[in-house]
Amino acid sequence: MGQQKKVLILGCNFAGLGAAQKIREYAGYQVDITCVDQKSYLDFTPNIPSEALHGRDPAVTMHMPIVKTLKEEGIQFVQGEVKKIHVEDRRVAIQPSERPGSPQYDMTYDYLVVALGTRLAFDDIKGFAEYGHAVSDAFHTNRLMNYLSREYKGGPIAIGSARFQQGQKGKPDWLPTASAVCEGPAVEFSLSLAHWLEKNHKGGAQNITLFTPAKMIAEDAGEKVVTQLLKTVSSRGLRYKNNMEDIDFIDQDGIQFKNGEYIAAELKVVFPNWKPHIFMKGLPISDELGFVVTDLRMRNPDHPEVFACGDAAAITVPKLESIGHQECEVVGKQIAADIGVISIQEANKKWMPEVVYLGDMGDGKAFYIHSSSWFGGDKEIFKIGHLNHDFKWAYQKMFFQTGGKIPSWGYPTFQWMTEKAL
Ligand SMILES: Cc1cc2nc3c(=O)[nH]c(=O)nc-3n(C[C@H](O)[C@H](O)[C@H](O)COP(=O)(O)OP(=O)(O)OC[C@H]3O[C@@H](n4cnc5c(N)ncnc54)[C@H](O)[C@@H]3O)c2cc1C
Repeated sequence: MGQQKKVLILGCNFAGLGAAQKIREYAGYQVDITCVDQKSYLDFTPNIPSEALHGRDPAVTMHMPIVKTLKEEGIQFVQGEVKKIHVEDRRVAIQPSERPGSPQYDMTYDYLVVALGTRLAFDDIKGFAEYGHAVSDAFHTNRLMNYLSREYKGGPIAIGSARFQQGQKGKPDWLPTASAVCEGPAVEFSLSLAHWLEKNHKGGAQNITLFTPAKMIAEDAGEKVVTQLLKTVSSRGLRYKNNMEDIDFIDQDGIQFKNGEYIAAELKVVFPNWKPHIFMKGLPISDELGFVVTDLRMRNPDHPEVFACGDAAAITVPKLESIGHQECEVVGKQIAADIGVISIQEANKKWMPEVVYLGDMGDGKAFYIHSSSWFGGDKEIFKIGHLNHDFKWAYQKMFFQTGGKIPSWGYPTFQWMTEKAL
């Protein structure tokens, strides 16, 4: 036991939990694993907006306890806030967060996995606090549902994203620079809200304008997919505005954009820029913004004992849970190879990320995207159907029932059915 390598994982939502489980799966008990997160549950963000539109409170239904799940696999959990990473001497300052007022403590490591996600920069958008709404967490989504149920007067609704700032230091050539960080949720929420408005006699798709800073919304899904997606959007009756550049400010009557256009709206639902946490900037492992630079082994080139996965990693663009999930597999194998449990060839098998997305459209239907063209591949699959909707909810149920360990046949079975069989 004394020779166990110490793995310290910062953040324990999708990427942190997934990395911990994959490291345990591949490296076994030859490593000692500790996860640190400021909260002791997993926030199932992807289903939060739809959950609320189905009349359920996501604070009740979308938070999965993680401490027991981790304990069952011999993984320690520390509820604390990461304050500083001292890369050169392999230690991290954390402040326990169960009760306010705790001192800071140092935790040391042999391997560090940064899975801290990002900071959603609502505070960069002038007027958001007074006039904006969001669906990125239970608080904002419940606040929006209260507004829709009690105050909404049936006026125009604008839904879309601010511009994403992507770091360029260490960016590989195969990775394009994105204008928006993750636009699936904006499209998904627009479609399912249109259905909700109709069902609740408060209007419909004609109330909604979907906007994007980019030339093409959800650009990372590829042109073929987006053409079909936009056909769906317009056949439903939603308006669409592209090339908006960025949100300049929000006021009571609408949104002013950096390209000079103004969209009048009673309700403004925005997705902000996703930024690295402030303490990540200036570290020897970070790009100029604070995202962690890695190669496709998810290792930092200058500090190979440091890994990153999920939204915190610079190469995770677009920032999707499904891409973080692919990266956790890589981290697990890399650490297992380092300690000699699997071969280096097995760990270094070539892979490229793929965009996988399931978007609720209301009325029991969902769209499914499986695409690799953003990363230079040739896959661009787009399907609409009831099976996609059922799988979206079944996936979340399976995730909670298995503590995040979806059986290996789960997604491939669905993929085969939706892409090949139906
Ligand atoms: C509305 C919405 C819908 C989405 N829908 C989809 C979808 O359908 N499909 C999809 O693939 N992706 C979707 N995404 C994106 C997806 O949610 C993210 O890609 C995913 O959550 C990233 O996981 P992560 O673990 O890297 O980061 P996060 O989920 O952000 O987790 C980071 C963790 O780090 C912890 N943390 C942060 N700072 C500190 C600190 N200083 N100290 C201690 N702990 C800290 C946090 O508490 C958190 O638990 C959606 C996002 C949004 C906002």
